[in-house]
Amino acid sequence: MLWSGWGDPAKARELPEQVRRLLHDLLGVRAPAVPAAGLESVRMPPAALEPRLLDALAGLVGDGHVLTTHEARVRHARGKSTPDLLRMRAGDGAGAPDAVVLPGGHHEVAQVLRLCAAERIAVVPFGGGTSVVGGLTAARDGFAGVISLDLGRMDRLVEVDAESMTAVFEPGVPAPEAERLLAAHGLTLGHFPQSFEYATLGGFAAARSSGQASAGYGRFDDMVTGLTVATPEGDLDLGRAPKSAAGPDLRQLVLGSEGAFGVITSLRLRVRRAPAEKVYEGWRLPGFAAGTAALRALAQDGPLPTVLRLSDETETMIGLARPDRIGGGEAGCLVIAGYEGASVSARREAAAAVLSGHGGVPLGEEPGQGWAHGRFSAPYLRDSLLAAGATVETLETAGFWADLPRLYDAVRLALLGALGSPLVMCHISHVYETGASLYFTVVTAQEDDPVAQWERAKEAANTAIVEAGGTISHHHGVGRDHRAAYAAEIGPLGVAILRAVKDRVDPRGVLNPGALV
Ligand SMILES: Cc1cc2nc3c(=O)[nH]c(=O)nc-3n(C[C@H](O)[C@H](O)[C@H](O)COP(=O)(O)OP(=O)(O)OC[C@H]3O[C@@H](n4cnc5c(N)ncnc54)[C@H](O)[C@@H]3O)c2cc1C
Repeated sequence: MLWSGWGDPAKARELPEQVRRLLHDLLGVRAPAVPAAGLESVRMPPAALEPRLLDALAGLVGDGHVLTTHEARVRHARGKSTPDLLRMRAGDGAGAPDAVVLPGGHHEVAQVLRLCAAERIAVVPFGGGTSVVGGLTAARDGFAGVISLDLGRMDRLVEVDAESMTAVFEPGVPAPEAERLLAAHGLTLGHFPQSFEYATLGGFAAARSSGQASAGYGRFDDMVTGLTVATPEGDLDLGRAPKSAAGPDLRQLVLGSEGAFGVITSLRLRVRRAPAEKVYEGWRLPGFAAGTAALRALAQDGPLPTVLRLSDETETMIGLARPDRIGGGEAGCLVIAGYEGASVSARREAAAAVLSGHGGVPLGEEPGQGWAHGRFSAPYLRDSLLAAGATVETLETAGFWADLPRLYDAVRLALLGALGSPLVMCHISHVYETGASLYFTVVTAQEDDPVAQWERAKEAANTAIVEAGGTISHHHGVGRDHRAAYAAEIGPLGVAILRAVKDRVDPRGVLNPGALV
């Protein structure tokens, strides 16, 4: 993973000349005056952990599994939001841990947590490092030091139960590896977020992730049937039946807790049979309102495609659903509908009737296959845009169908008001019977301080989301960036309940301090 950007550096892409021109003419984007920093020149706080503590940690996880090199610290300093990348490109590694600790199993995690609690060392669990909400940036005030607890060595498929259709994994398994391991059994999770290439199963659970095929396979939290969690105060082993009436479901306290309540050390996940057939196709809907109505009809009355995505007019015009064809978009609103698994042609035919009934025009399989082909390439495009002097960032929310138009307008207006004349695009890509998510992509010319510029816009969008009745996050989580808005969403009593839980499982406050609560 590129330390200051996304993905495999070999896949980095030059911006097509047409896009450069568009950015300049439409948004006034100019190349940044200062070149991006090199890895060696990243500034970090001096490592604070005493040698005796480093020795004690090495005694628990083994020599060679406590890293203190400049590079290891830089690589664990931040997540992958645009402000994270802008700061790294500016050589600002302020969030870096003192050491990176790689435990080999549950027992080692539990021992590390006990040691860190006793010595007041902050612990930031690290999965794939793809957080976009500031989930990985350590608060070090009042601590003897900070470690990044990298779960990369805990990467095993532990068990497959083909009768119950569940599989037990360790948390550090990257998503592509999970799919590869399950494919050997003819199975799949069906979880394909845009961060698929690097994110891990533990990170998906800790941040309540949702993938591009959520209409067919559900969100990641729908897939979690059991969890083992290590805390400084002991272990939790949760989920002994598919559903239970035995009190409140404690799994729900752990899902989305972002390392603030404990470290997920194993997950039992519902799996599905790998689909024999996959078909993706495109439709043109006359406008966002008509498209939204069509998606609502499919979500409420069926049939529900496995992938269902609607771009608004601006996103369609720019062609964002096809990063390989940016700038080559069309009029109207693009719908991508994908069908996997059983009864593909029957579902496709019935969904076609619904889409046609809302004014949809079929575009055939080419746009669908193009979307599927380019579905993980947009983050590479972000790097090229940042280098060219454009800020590009995304934010997301969800609301009930009746509130969605108001939510859409409020967020758009907030972003336009905060940034002058940015490009604001939106799509719906997760639908439910009662509502849907809205996912915004914003592109603007970088000011002298692009981080402050984005923080201003983000603040305005967060306020608009809260006031328009949306949730502060549908699938990115809370981290540090959404903490204030999350507190507004759940109210003072809600915050006090979370605080009480944290005080019980983590009385010394060492677990990911500053995240969530
Ligand atoms: C380009 C890009 C595209 C993205 N697209 C999507 C998308 O389509 N859908 C989506 O849902 N998200 C998306 N994300 C967000 C991100 O990928 C998800 O939040 C993902 O769940 C993070 O997984 P990770 O393994 O990288 O976790 P990390 O980023 O390493 O960690 C996330 C948080 O969980 C904590 N944590 C990690 N592992 C554990 C554990 N085992 N136990 C306890 N706490 C833990 C961390 O401390 C941190 O607070 C995207 C991010 C990027 C950069």
